[in-house]
Amino acid sequence: MLAFIVCLVRTFMKKMFDLIATTAAGVEAVVGKEIKGLGIDCRLENGRVLFQGDVEIIAKTNLWLRAADRIKILVGEFSAKTFEELFQGVLALDWGNYLPLGCQFPIAKAKSVKSKLHNEPSIQAITKKAIVKKLQKHFHRPQNVPLLENGPEFKIEVSILKDRARIMLDTTGPSLFKRGYRIDKGGAPLKENMAAAIILLSNWFPDKPFVDPTCGSGTFCIEAAMIGKNIAPGTNRHFAFEKWPWVDQAVMNKVRSEAKSQVTDLELDILGFDIDGRVIEIAKNNVRAAGLEDVIKLKQMRFQDFKTDKINGVIISNPPYGERLLDDKAIDILYNEMGKAFAPLKTWSQFILTSDETFEKKFNRQADKKRKLYNGTLRVDLYQFYGQRVKREDK
Ligand code: SAH
Repeated sequence: MLAFIVCLVRTFMKKMFDLIATTAAGVEAVVGKEIKGLGIDCRLENGRVLFQGDVEIIAKTNLWLRAADRIKILVGEFSAKTFEELFQGVLALDWGNYLPLGCQFPIAKAKSVKSKLHNEPSIQAITKKAIVKKLQKHFHRPQNVPLLENGPEFKIEVSILKDRARIMLDTTGPSLFKRGYRIDKGGAPLKENMAAAIILLSNWFPDKPFVDPTCGSGTFCIEAAMIGKNIAPGTNRHFAFEKWPWVDQAVMNKVRSEAKSQVTDLELDILGFDIDGRVIEIAKNNVRAAGLEDVIKLKQMRFQDFKTDKINGVIISNPPYGERLLDDKAIDILYNEMGKAFAPLKTWSQFILTSDETFEKKFNRQADKKRKLYNGTLRVDLYQFYGQRVKREDK
């Protein structure tokens, strides 16, 4: 009987959704390329990529997108200059298609930019009130009795930009950068999805040597290995939508098992080192948690001592920045020594992420390209130096 009701509910639920992948500023195009790579058409906006899809696409994008923050359903969008307009706009949406009776539906901290409505607690309260009213009507519940909320969670988000409200439902739960492998972190770790975005922006291919000479907790190495082996970044975690009663578990199981069968056994050449032996131990634990101990080599070493005969490799480094770990004089010396250590690696491409605007001078080389990114709230640049192309037999 229960199975029949669940089936009936699914039959009437919405099948196609307007979806949003949220991203850090500067990586929209990377996420757009990933979405297109899954065979889905999409459109870029600041900090988000818009696309459409069914539950299978919600499952695939959560499981596979390496550089995105979250996947959200866009429930509706309308103009809201007054609280009355906000209330009526939320009330008009088809909540019965999303929220089952008894579910929890917290309203996340509202965002309002360049809009008349800016009192965020009031925006949240009005939104909640309108959804409660709609659900009471939809499920024929009395208006004077509060709705019971003890079922699965559906987190609602309201964002108002230039008086236009967007009402969204988060499908992800904890942000996508939480892959589940980082059990410990060093002094200034990079988010996993930012590390993946930088690798995807680089010219590394899995047949080239990869080196992170300031590897800290090992994020770049682990993300590179997962890209190289085609391991879905969400393999070791779950997502909020998996608990929703109208989501067919078989869809997620299928997407997960397809992902498992797509892992390759390609040989990779990935090396991470760091001057600090303690962070190398942390990196080793993370690499083990990701199941990549046979793929990634780690050791305690200074980048000043790095020498190699290999060609066409790629270095990706997130060295200490002034603001974060070291004082200015020490940074000047460190970047200068880095320039000297990497200068002989003529065929290697080098990608260095730092907030230091005078990095090129200290490194003693002008970047072929610079790209503005954000490491959390800190503005940083990815300095890109391309190696000279050499065919292997010319060496
Ligand atoms: N991306 C890393 C964080 C890097 S923080 C992560 O996600 O965890 C910068 C790292 O540079 C620190 O771990 C620090 O120990 C290391 N470092 C500083 N000087 C170094 C040197 N001379 N050689 C190698 N590593 C160095």
